[in-house]
Amino acid sequence: MKFYYSGKNTNTQGVIMVHSEDCKALPDVLQRIYIGMFPNSNLAITSAKQKLQLTRVKVCTCCVE
Ligand SMILES: [Zn+2]
Repeated sequence: MKFYYSGKNTNTQGVIMVHSEDCKALPDVLQRIYIGMFPNSNLAITSAKQKLQLTRVKVCTCCVE
């Protein structure tokens, strides 16, 4: 299980990125939203979409499991 966070701002493609707790690209503490604790990134993405009410949510490439 890992903690997952999303960024607060979309990237240049208009997508919100989700990162795991140990990601090198994890946004600064003030620039991220806690999504929850999940066993894999798929579940984190599903939860992030519900929580943020957004469909354009992707997991960071180095955080995919
Ligand atoms: Zn990552």
